[in-house]
Amino acid sequence: MSAIPISATTMLTASAIKDVSVNYYLVPLPEVLSDAKHGDHTHFELITCTITCADGTTGTGYTYTGGKGGQAIYSLIKHDLTPFLNQKNADCIEAIWEEMQYHLHYVGRGGLVSFAISAVDIALWDIRCKRINQPLWRLAGGCSDRTPCYAGGIDLNFDLTRLIENIEGYLAKGFKAVKIKVGKPTMSEDIARVAAVRKAIGDDITFMVDANYSMSPEQAIRFANAIERYDIHWFEEPTIPDDYQSYARIACATSIPLAMGENLHTVYEFGYAVNQSKLSYLQPDASNIGGITGWLKVASLAHINNLKVCSHGMQELHVSLMSSQPNAGMMEYHSFPIDAYTKYPVTLDDQGNAVAPDVVGTGVIFDDAKLAPHLIM
Ligand SMILES: [Mg+2]
Repeated sequence: MSAIPISATTMLTASAIKDVSVNYYLVPLPEVLSDAKHGDHTHFELITCTITCADGTTGTGYTYTGGKGGQAIYSLIKHDLTPFLNQKNADCIEAIWEEMQYHLHYVGRGGLVSFAISAVDIALWDIRCKRINQPLWRLAGGCSDRTPCYAGGIDLNFDLTRLIENIEGYLAKGFKAVKIKVGKPTMSEDIARVAAVRKAIGDDITFMVDANYSMSPEQAIRFANAIERYDIHWFEEPTIPDDYQSYARIACATSIPLAMGENLHTVYEFGYAVNQSKLSYLQPDASNIGGITGWLKVASLAHINNLKVCSHGMQELHVSLMSSQPNAGMMEYHSFPIDAYTKYPVTLDDQGNAVAPDVVGTGVIFDDAKLAPHLIM
């Protein structure tokens, strides 16, 4: 039973939700991208959700996947959340967020439900920004209009030549920090790739590695010790995200800071990780942690634990969230180019910082003409 006073979200006002529309797109990637555990990515799925209020104000949110599960997310929004949202007051975002969690709690507590809630929540924040005529980076915290960022390669299938070429492409675009995938069949291959990239980028570029939870704790410790000499800024998802205590064991055995978060899909999971895992960087993704509301809760959790908040994926939205926060680490510029399908693709300043769009709303306005060929339903 919900403890939330229902009247707060059901008062009929100009902000009463009148309509929710959902779209599902399957968007091909320019080339096949692979990591250690998710296999080959050929497409990303994009699920958009547009909410219209009684006074005609609209907001658009969205979520994405690596190519699987998107139709179930579409269905959750269309068949479960749309009727639930009818006549709710769009201004009461925190209340709606909590109610959505418990509306789907029995089949949720994370997973696909968190993706669906995220799309709705982001749409509600778009409406909130429009109501008070502000860009998201100001409304979410207002610390800055820009954030340090890095280019996150999904490049485990690239041979060494293509790997270096890809990294040099990032540097040519102005990035001052890069990340590669690790988790090849043998550790010696991974070490050789790390060594080759550090040699190619020189000493001044920040460099991270991401195993996509492919290693045992013992493998991760051996690997971390072998690559410490290459000045690694963080080691991301060395082992399965559920094994909070082994993260702590790995952290105690290496000087390389640990990062994770893209596979933690409730704020409570982040609580467990902070308490148990000795992480240095939290990486919530607003597309799967319950939208902007969930992301900001994790940012606060990071802050009160003296940790940096970072991000995963959807750079076109995270640029505003990361810019807004006092404890921002580095935003990932992800290899799924969602921002190429928006009116405001991410831009970098001459220091390599990503600049938040200074427009009213979330700053994510999809280019319908570009997306239309990929609409499935
Ligand atoms: Mg990752």
